[in-house]
Amino acid sequence: MDLIVAKFGGTSVGDGSRIRKAAQSVVNEYMKGNQLVVVVSAVNNATDELIELSNEAIGGGLTDKQKAEIMAMGELTSSRLFAAAIESLGVKAEFIDPYNDKWPVITDSNSLNAKIDFATTDKKCEGIKNLISQGIIPVICGFLGKGPSGEITTIGRGGSDVTAFLLGHCLSANNVVIVTDVDGVMSTDPNKIEEAELLDEISVEEMRDLATHGAQVLHPHALKYKDPLISAKIINFNNGDLSSEGTKITGPFEGDMLKTVSLYKNPISVIAIVGEEMLKKVGLLADLTSCLAENEINIFGISAGQNSITVFVEKKDSDKAYHLLHSWVIDEDVLSSLSLGDDTAMITVVSPEFIDEPGIISNITNPLRKNDINIVEISSSQTAVVLFVDWKDGEKALELIKEVLK
Ligand code: ADP
Ligand code: ASP
Ligand code: MG
Repeated sequence: MDLIVAKFGGTSVGDGSRIRKAAQSVVNEYMKGNQLVVVVSAVNNATDELIELSNEAIGGGLTDKQKAEIMAMGELTSSRLFAAAIESLGVKAEFIDPYNDKWPVITDSNSLNAKIDFATTDKKCEGIKNLISQGIIPVICGFLGKGPSGEITTIGRGGSDVTAFLLGHCLSANNVVIVTDVDGVMSTDPNKIEEAELLDEISVEEMRDLATHGAQVLHPHALKYKDPLISAKIINFNNGDLSSEGTKITGPFEGDMLKTVSLYKNPISVIAIVGEEMLKKVGLLADLTSCLAENEINIFGISAGQNSITVFVEKKDSDKAYHLLHSWVIDEDVLSSLSLGDDTAMITVVSPEFIDEPGIISNITNPLRKNDINIVEISSSQTAVVLFVDWKDGEKALELIKEVLK
């Protein structure tokens, strides 16, 4: 017997027949002997419509609290419809909204982008476990939370995905199934490029990066709660079958959920190339990287600005790289000169929590400044920060950064 958390996005409950089909798919799994929890979004574009309506009626006078209460009507409605549809198929269901004592998702008081209080939510999930053990299917509003004064909050647009993985984690579910309007995760948005191909599986890390860069198919914060033991997938509502295949989300693998700081074992050399007209030349970076790749030289970092490109290679390769790039600079009209800098140490800091942690770069760099450690270069992405400091400062910088992240 599996515990399945099934999340239905707006399109998958977009009209009466879709709601019936979705409810039937839940009942089918229940009849196989599984336990189910439903998380449901507002039907179709109800959230957008409610926002538009209130903007038209009230305009700028609307408070965030009022906006959250109005937006919530989408999920308050769809949860009632979904629970009634399950009951009409002969299985007991109960809609759970933030007005219900059994409501589990507890947040801070931020009305529109509320932060989840994980510990309290975890405890509150006991009420949901009780319902499940009585054979009742809880139908829980996605996207909504309950603030400290019992007020309705929302956890950010598209937040039902977060609700699903959060509950999956707290209920120790075996499966989280995201039901949406595409076959799964594709090579790109299929509504933008028709030839997009379905991926059989994708890792938590890849999915998180894709989502933080705008792939709407899953909320970027949802996977924060993805337990390695939970199997998760994204499927199409058209299948009407929760056991159908879509894209499996694998991982996270051990250590991936943790903050890690590491110092690369060998010194790294920095080569800076300058040229006034650099931006006018197409394919300059391609020429540079193929010049090094053809000579088996690995690039550890690269950044391009208006008048300069900096490349980081291992010290053992630096002389060769320096000479190769020098010949290239001489042949290339838009480039004028290059220099080989001192040895640097490369420190990589990775944490999935960086996505929603403001000020992370200043937290990391402030102690370095206080200790007179010069940063030669820094680059950051959604989940990683890479710093290059003078080689002699590497160990000290590593210790200071570890201290900050404790
Ligand atoms: P739901 O309402 O079910 O949460 P969303 O509209 O939020 O659905 O997400 C599904 C949409 O994500 C798809 O209709 C598609 O346009 C978009 N999308 C963006 N990138 C991708 C991708 N790489 N693979 C699949 N869908 C994608
Ligand atoms: N209904 C909410 C929205 O449109 C939440 C969701 O669909 O996940 O943003
Ligand atoms: Mg969505």
